[in-house]
Amino acid sequence: MPFAMILGMKGDGGLASIELASLRFKVIDGGESSRRYIWLHGDEQTARMAIEAHMKSHPGRAFLIAGSEREVQFEGGMLDPNRMFSREGAEKNLNKFSPKWSEKKMNSALDKLDRDRENFLTAITPPDSGLLVALHNNLRGYSIEDEVDNSNEISIKSDQNAHDFFLCTDRNDFTKLSQSPFNVVLQASADSEDDGSLSRAMAKRGIRYVNIEVRLGWLSQQKKMLNILESVLD
Ligand SMILES: [Zn+2]
Repeated sequence: MPFAMILGMKGDGGLASIELASLRFKVIDGGESSRRYIWLHGDEQTARMAIEAHMKSHPGRAFLIAGSEREVQFEGGMLDPNRMFSREGAEKNLNKFSPKWSEKKMNSALDKLDRDRENFLTAITPPDSGLLVALHNNLRGYSIEDEVDNSNEISIKSDQNAHDFFLCTDRNDFTKLSQSPFNVVLQASADSEDDGSLSRAMAKRGIRYVNIEVRLGWLSQQKKMLNILESVLD
């Protein structure tokens, strides 16, 4: 399917929104660049503010999920958008929220995601070996410690909070980000369990991807990390 059809491109060249199954993403087109940005969790408002502010002064294209909840309504159940990037991951996630779905109901929901997934991933994949940047926030629990066992390499800075870190899929990007003041992990291989996350899907496809994970509410920290990323990565 041609790119313009997938995206529902408007006559003026601007992009309104794109969808994966019924999950809608607003598109901000900031002009010519191979940078792409994505915000997947509606309850992580600090990350949304960081991307929206960034797009006012940087070119590239950003994809922002519609709504303000972490999980979205899907086929009468609930789905974490960061678990929809593989059939296996989506099934585990849908089953967690709707354990009573019949096999037929589950397969029909998974088929809908399967039909749109490749087009969606194509639409958010940066051109010319460019970089896809995802922004996330956490509340206390999740930290870099949770990723150490799944990572190829880690760079932990003693004066940095364990809840703030870069997660990247490309070794060159890891090397450059390691020299920044911030924590970094490299997850270049896709041999761990397929949880349906975007990082896993991008690692599998060999696409350069960096997740900027920061505590909810720490907008200045997330902006600093985004700015460092822009200055050290091409
Ligand atoms: Zn998130």
